[in-house]
This record gives sequence, structure tokens and C-alpha cells, in this order.
Amino acid sequence: RAKSRGRNSIHYFTENMSTDFLKRMEIMRDLRIAVEQKQFYMVYQPIVNLTTSRITKAEALIRWQHPQKGLISPLEFIQIAEEIGLIVELSEWIFNEVTQQVDIWRKQYCPDLTISINTSPVQYKNNGAQINAWADSLILRDIPCEAISLEITEHLLMENQLEAVEALDKVRLHGMSVAIDDFGTGYSSFAYLKDFDFDYLKIDQRFVQNMSADNKDTALCEAIIAMATKLKMSVIAEGIETEQQKQLLIQAGCTFGQGYLFAKPLSAANFEALLIEQTRNDSIIVG
Ligand code: C2E
Ligand code: MG
Ligand code: MG
Ligand code: MG
Repeated sequence: RAKSRGRNSIHYFTENMSTDFLKRMEIMRDLRIAVEQKQFYMVYQPIVNLTTSRITKAEALIRWQHPQKGLISPLEFIQIAEEIGLIVELSEWIFNEVTQQVDIWRKQYCPDLTISINTSPVQYKNNGAQINAWADSLILRDIPCEAISLEITEHLLMENQLEAVEALDKVRLHGMSVAIDDFGTGYSSFAYLKDFDFDYLKIDQRFVQNMSADNKDTALCEAIIAMATKLKMSVIAEGIETEQQKQLLIQAGCTFGQGYLFAKPLSAANFEALLIEQTRNDSIIVG
């Protein structure tokens, strides 16, 4: 019996492997066309000040609207785009899209709005040529560099630490802020904190989502927040879904948060509607 079970599980394994493989091949093939035809759009997830509920930040997240397969998650194609070298071109499109938006929103509704863009390791190659070009582009178009924040993961720093750190130092001089994303999920995170001054630390949602009174995850979040505060970083908690998580984070001294409790990632139009509502409420309070 053990033998046949073993054989079945091998059969199952290879079958899965080949469908995964085919799926990847299809995504690779379709991704080139998608980049050419711009089958993407950006969504914006509000980042709120936990105590005031005010929105002055948002994270830009990409969505792929495939003509036959429908919506495809970035978790399914970003890594492949990195592997086949398409990410640089795709990120160029993302940057243009987001900067046009943030410029309009800052002028019309929210002068201190900052939108963060997720970045990939390859964008820091060649002494951070692409990132430096972004700073130049903002300056040329008279968009304050404060309008854009770059999110990077520990994974990025592991791959090409020196180049990345130098490139980030340069753009930070212009006023672009930098956030370490998914904090706590990579390894030797502490070494990166020592070598680079991040403006924001984003606590990964897997810690936040399991927070409840007096448990381990809450203790870990409290410790991360205390450490970040000492190192003069602002903390953004990701994946807040309940009022209790929010309260525990406030008690621990966390300033910012994002998650389904406040809003899911929104289309540009829906995010704009939120900004309009906020501006209207502000003028009621003032007037
Ligand atoms: P991330 O940068 O850590 O983004 C946060 C992810 O958590 C997003 O998933 C967001 O929709 C999701 N999320 C936010 N709040 C909640 C919550 O309360 N509960 C739960 N369960 N999830 C929540 P998304 O949009 O699927 O993106 C996944 C990852 O793909 C991102 O993780 C990021 O690493 C990557 N990604 C997304 N957009 C881009 C992009 O434009 N460029 C690059 N290079 N990577 C991107
Ligand atoms: Mg992110
Ligand atoms: Mg994250
Ligand atoms: Mg993540």
C-alpha cells in the first residue's frame, strides 16, 4: 500500500509541475505582448494615519487585465517579468502612470500626498541608472521628489547591496523617501538597517494579521516599532483587517497603516473620490 501511495504522490507531483511549468511559459509569452500593448492599470491603496484616519499616502499596485484570462495578480507575473528582463520597461510605464496621477492629485486635492512605488532589484543595476533617471524626470517636470516613495524588499538588498545603497542614497538627497517593505520576512534584516537609512519601515502583514492581546505576534510588532522609532524611521503596518489590530498598533506607537479595514486597493477614480471627500470634510471643519 505504501508503494502505490508513493507512486501516486509522484504522479501527482509531476502533473502539478508540468501545469505550473506551462502556466509560467504562457505568462512569459503573454507578458511581452502585454507590455507592448499596455494591458495594465494601477490601483492605489490608501495609507492612513492610524490616530487621525487622514490619508496622505498611498501604495501603487499593478494589475494586469489579460484579454482572455482576465485579471492576473502581480504575485503571478512580477517575478517572471524580473527573470526575463521585462521589469525595467514595465516599471518605466508604472513610474509615468503614477507620477502623472500624483501630480494631479497634489495640485487638486492633497498637496502633501506621497505615493509609493514597489521596485525590483534590477532597477538598481548600473549604479541605479533607472532610479536616478526617475529623480531627474521629476525635477524636470517640476514634481517635488517628496511625491514619490520607493519601496524595496530585503531580497533586493541581498542581491546587490552596495549598488542599491549608493543609488538610494543619491535619490534620497533629492527628497525621494525610501521604505523597507515586508520587514521581518527576509533574513539578516538588522544588517540592512545598519547600513542604510530608511525613511519608512513597513511591517509585513503576516505579523499584523495574527495580532491579538498578549500574543507573540503583538510582542514582535511592538519590538519592531520600538526599534524603528529609535532608528528614526516611521512605521507603516501592512494588512490591518480588524479594529483590534489597529488599536494594538496604536498602543505600540505605530503611526501609519494600510489594510482592508480602511480600504482595499482602489481604482484611480475611486481613490480620487476618497481624496475629494477628505478635502470637503477639511473645509467643513475649517469653515
Ligand atoms: P506588497 O508590496 O507587500 O503589497 C501589499 C499587498 O498586500 C498587496 O497585494 C495588497 O493588495 C495586499 N493587501 C493590502 N491590505 C491587505 C489586507 O488587509 N489583507 C490582505 N490579505 N492583503 C492586503 P498585491 O496588490 O496582490 O501585490 C502583491 C505584491 O506584488 C506586492 O506586495 C509587491 O511585492 C508586488 N507588486 C505589486 N505591484 C507592484 C509593482 O507595481 N511593481 C513591483 N515591482 N511589484 C509590485
Ligand atoms: Mg509594497
Ligand atoms: Mg509589503
Ligand atoms: Mg508582500
